[in-house]
Amino acid sequence: MTEKNIIIIGAGLAGLATGIYAQMNGYRAHIFEHGNQPGGVSATWKRKGYTIDGGIHFYMGFRPGQPVHDLYRELGIYQADQYQEIATYGRYLDPTSNRTLDLTSDLDRFSAELKAISPNDTDFIDEFIKGAKAFKNVSFTTGLDKPPEMTGFWDTAKMMLSMGKKIKYYGGRYNLPMNEAVKDVKEPWVREILEGIFLPDVPVWFVLFVLGMLASGNIALRLDGSAGFASALEKRFTNLRGQITYKATVEEILVENDRAVGIRLKDGDEHRADRVVSAADGYSTIFEFLKGRFVDNIIRERYEKWPLFNPVVMISYGVNREFQDDPWMVVIKSTGNITAGHLTGPWLAIRIFNYSPAFALPGKTVVQVMIDSAWEPWRELREDMDAYTAEKQQLAQQVLENLSGVWPGIADQVDMTDVATPYTYYRCTFNRKGAYEGFSITPETIRTKIYRTLPGLKNFLMAGQWVSPGGGVIPSLMTGKHAVMLLCRQDGKRFETTEA
Ligand SMILES: Cc1cc2nc3c(=O)[nH]c(=O)nc-3n(C[C@H](O)[C@H](O)[C@H](O)COP(=O)(O)OP(=O)(O)OC[C@H]3O[C@@H](n4cnc5c(N)ncnc54)[C@H](O)[C@@H]3O)c2cc1C
Repeated sequence: MTEKNIIIIGAGLAGLATGIYAQMNGYRAHIFEHGNQPGGVSATWKRKGYTIDGGIHFYMGFRPGQPVHDLYRELGIYQADQYQEIATYGRYLDPTSNRTLDLTSDLDRFSAELKAISPNDTDFIDEFIKGAKAFKNVSFTTGLDKPPEMTGFWDTAKMMLSMGKKIKYYGGRYNLPMNEAVKDVKEPWVREILEGIFLPDVPVWFVLFVLGMLASGNIALRLDGSAGFASALEKRFTNLRGQITYKATVEEILVENDRAVGIRLKDGDEHRADRVVSAADGYSTIFEFLKGRFVDNIIRERYEKWPLFNPVVMISYGVNREFQDDPWMVVIKSTGNITAGHLTGPWLAIRIFNYSPAFALPGKTVVQVMIDSAWEPWRELREDMDAYTAEKQQLAQQVLENLSGVWPGIADQVDMTDVATPYTYYRCTFNRKGAYEGFSITPETIRTKIYRTLPGLKNFLMAGQWVSPGGGVIPSLMTGKHAVMLLCRQDGKRFETTEA
């Protein structure tokens, strides 16, 4: 039997995973990528001797023994020596009172410290921590092992049974957005800490899940960063004889008789294949590459109404200083003097790359600040490059003043500044409105199953974060696996996996 050709749009995590599983299953995969490197939003770039990792913060489920660990093995991304388990998830710092609190994998300690700050919130804290402990050693792949097209009643029943007593944590008040659930917490700082563990609008159970993973020692940093992770995926794909073309921007998916038959690139070149899988931005795929011809009301409404992940500004400083006493993540609230940057949130999530020599020369460190921002003002500003650059410079200066309150003297030690805006994320990956993880995680979006096919279009599938709301490393990789499971089903083949 001749091998079927597949074109995959995008060499982000999902596109690479699709390619790897396709090659494993006897397809000939060719990925076309707009950028010049693998990884998509998990991007890394160099500035003045520093390596700026603008992507993945941490990796969940990496540890052997977890069902999701198989995915790491199959995709060739389990380099054991590159994963460093996180003991401290983050340090919360209140700049006005100088109080600090570390969230570590020791949930009893976290609970005791929260209660010491606010004895009046004991009941809430106890219930919250009990919930987090219930998620210890939970399987990451629950509900993710098959695409919705292949998930039947019995799969759902089996999944619910496997949840056992934990099932109560997926509904009721645990399904409220975190910022609503914490409204009853009396002490403002405790409220802020709980709200800031993940994004404020995610359901409570999602935060409990993250804490459960943390407490099980199943969250890690990667010493060679996002670049190492993406390169490992690319290597696995090319070792399996897959083909990638970079700097190839797709403009159209070619359709004949309601079948996808290939793609047309921006430079006019056309490429034909038996199947097309788009692992690129969802809006571009449906409404631009396919000109909105294969949609129903459900899809249209999703793209009109569902909230998107808040875009961010990311300011990276190269600092001539070591940060030996700091954890990798420090979270502070802005002291209110940042007027530039069109910020939409008060939180400065400060990532300190002090855990690996991969990012800076000895004695130096990259300190990166991520803050929620808005799409439209940055898009407008980008039309006037001088104004855009001036806004970035002013923002970087004001944020640095905030950092000086925490690390006195830092302003004089900075020898590199780099600012990425929501427009940067869009320009590099076309993710709609700079939403770097697709649709935002809300109680509604995270429960909706999104089909990987489009109504009326044959020989076409979607993968990536736009078919798995909230994105993330594991869900995005899993959508690549799902795409190939569906291809195999369509072709009457048994889906096979091998380890790297
Ligand atoms: C700062 C940051 C921190 C994060 N932290 C975490 C974390 O700690 N844990 C976690 O699990 N997840 C994290 N994520 C999220 C995770 O990285 C993403 O959800 C995931 O990488 C998305 O992968 P994807 O392949 O679906 O999409 P993308 O990365 O968007 O890939 C799509 C690819 O398609 C290409 N493309 C688009 N249009 C075209 C076109 N017309 N022609 C050709 N190619 C095209 C793009 O260039 C891109 O390479 C983080 C993301 C960011 C940005």
